[in-house]
Amino acid sequence: MKVRAAVLEHTGGLLEVQELDLAPPGPAEVLVRLAASGVCHSDFNAIDGTAETRCPAVLGHEGAGVVEAIGPGVTRVGVGDHVALSWAPSCGSCGECLRELPQLCSAAWPAMGTGGLMDGTTRLSRSGDPVYHYSFLSTFADACVVPEKSCVPIPTDIPFAVAGLVGCAVTTGVGAVWRTAGVRPGDRVAIIGCGGVGLSALMAAVAVGAEPVIAVDATATKLDTARTFGASDGVLWAGSAEATAEAIRDASGGGVDYAIEATGRPEAMTAAFLSTRARGAAVLIGIPREDAVLTLPALSIPRMERRVLGSIYGSSRPERDFGTTLALYQAGRLPLDRLVSHHLPLEEVARGFELMRSGEALRVVLDLNA
Ligand SMILES: [Zn+2]
Ligand SMILES: [Zn+2]
Repeated sequence: MKVRAAVLEHTGGLLEVQELDLAPPGPAEVLVRLAASGVCHSDFNAIDGTAETRCPAVLGHEGAGVVEAIGPGVTRVGVGDHVALSWAPSCGSCGECLRELPQLCSAAWPAMGTGGLMDGTTRLSRSGDPVYHYSFLSTFADACVVPEKSCVPIPTDIPFAVAGLVGCAVTTGVGAVWRTAGVRPGDRVAIIGCGGVGLSALMAAVAVGAEPVIAVDATATKLDTARTFGASDGVLWAGSAEATAEAIRDASGGGVDYAIEATGRPEAMTAAFLSTRARGAAVLIGIPREDAVLTLPALSIPRMERRVLGSIYGSSRPERDFGTTLALYQAGRLPLDRLVSHHLPLEEVARGFELMRSGEALRVVLDLNA
């Protein structure tokens, strides 16, 4: 079949909407008619080369839609199901999966690097030449073929824009608080970086009863926004990791239990670590450049039992956590729809990135098949 899709020809290039061929789903694969896709900073990392990506590729990894066809052997979903898409399918049988760490599946990560699906081959092509998938999903398109394990069924009354965000930003932020850190009522939490992921973490900390929840950002208007999501306090980036950490420690009564770092910048990661109290943890979820190095005061690690926790995809288990998150959204306890600040058609994907990079947008969602 033919699909319209936003193609990145080469690193550093522009996204161009083109017509491509999409092969039918193979064994354990699913064809999804896409309804919505968020525009995420990770897509931009692929465009500017911060993260190496095989090109030409169809970007987008924050999508939701309706199952249109299933390949042989598919049992988890059927035609007509509404699904949110996970970019972290897992094999279920490797060493990491057996340790209940599906987000670190040692079969999926190498397959993702090939730009193919789980078997390393691509379903996208153009005049017979391969076009590569991005994070198994490629949601900047009308439709996509994805691994069955990427499809999580959702209730039909969930807006697709919200379901799409649960596929990446929301799960990354919420899961970091609930799963990686295990924040408890009364814990002191700081959120460093108040974009879509940071605000998701903030909503999760507020929902679980953390107090105080301190928002930290380099832009004052983002702190105002964070307060409307329930932040009890705001700290403006103070020019250095040390000065910012001191302001967070002051605002929190002597340091936080968890500092959630969502920017991927080493100086912000250092600030997260320095803002913790005894036994506190810096929870690092932002993706740094590959060559980034952290320098931390070593003595305080044993002396104060300070910790650094890494978190990918919120240490989540999508088939369990997407449903929990969406149920709390429907109950009014996670106002996820408030993250969506802009709706654009696929053709305006470039403007979506401009809005994201200027800081004007909370989250841009592309309406597909609108
Ligand atoms: Zn993302
Ligand atoms: Zn695995």
